[in-house]
Amino acid sequence: MPLYAYRCPEGRDFEIQAPMGQIREAVPCPDCGQPAARKFTAPHLSRSSSSAYKLIESSARSASEPAVVTSPGAASGAPRGGGITHNPLHRKLPRPD
Ligand SMILES: [Zn+2]
Repeated sequence: MPLYAYRCPEGRDFEIQAPMGQIREAVPCPDCGQPAARKFTAPHLSRSSSSAYKLIESSARSASEPAVVTSPGAASGAPRGGGITHNPLHRKLPRPD
């Protein structure tokens, strides 16, 4: 069953498990009893076993530890090293101070 996230007027977040199609837009907060509005998030469908979850996890992991780096890559037209020119006419161009 999917989980639905709610937030009460005092800022407390909680989740409620409900069958699809029986979602309520507001439920009483378990702490203060005030009507808590539903947060619009994607329902957590079968938390740790879905392939989507694994994909999210693996991409988050490779953000800090890139997995596929074997070489710096081939030069692709763009000059490296700041694009130093050897044309003598370029010496006359204004330079930043
Ligand atoms: Zn509350």
